[in-house]
This record gives sequence, C-alpha cells and structure tokens, in this order.
Amino acid sequence: MELSELSKKRLEGVDERLKAIVIECAKRCPYPFNVSEGLRSIELQCEYVRQGKSRTMKSKHLTGEAVDLYPLTMNRKAVDWSRFEELADLMFQVACELGTKIVWGGHWKTFVDKCHFELK
Ligand SMILES: [Zn+2]
Repeated sequence: MELSELSKKRLEGVDERLKAIVIECAKRCPYPFNVSEGLRSIELQCEYVRQGKSRTMKSKHLTGEAVDLYPLTMNRKAVDWSRFEELADLMFQVACELGTKIVWGGHWKTFVDKCHFELK
C-alpha cells in the first residue's frame, strides 16, 4: 500500500539501499504502515537517551542507516500491534531480493525494538 506523504518525507536523508527496501515493501504490503523516523539529529538522540527511549549514542538513525516502521490498521488510524513480525518477514524478504543485509530490532535480546530496522 502506498506510503503517506509524511512517511515519504521521513525517508529523506535515509540511506538509498534502506529506502529502496522500505518503498518496495510498501508496494507489496497488503496493509498500511508508516515511517515514524529515519534520519535523526544528534540533539534528538541525546533527548531519547535521556528519556530512556534509546540506550546508545551510536544509533544508526544518526547516519540515516535506520528506520522505524509501524504497521497500521486498514483505516490507518491506529498501530496494528499484531503485525510487527509479519512486517519484519516482508522486510527481510525484500532486503534479500535487493541484496542488502538488514537487522531487525525485534531480534535484539537486551532492548527489543520491533519497529526498528537498520543496515547490517
Ligand atoms: Zn529505530
């Protein structure tokens, strides 16, 4: 399903390889998802660490090598919390086809972050 204009805007500054995966994934995805964040400023990263939303100052968001994706309900009004694994499967499939290796935050052991995808 087509990405919203806001989601497309949030892909600005994101590494082209990761961007290509997200765009292709959106085309094939039978339900909508949004991009909540791509490239992140150092100031915002500091703020996230302070708030405990992130635990590192080496986040790949700082270099545009990470995106956060949220699957949505069909009316796009709410996050569909049941679809993170499904969306991750599709992301891995598309990444594999495009020859790019990615990492999913849902696989992390210490700080599970199911919306997070980054380049390996
Ligand atoms: Zn993230």
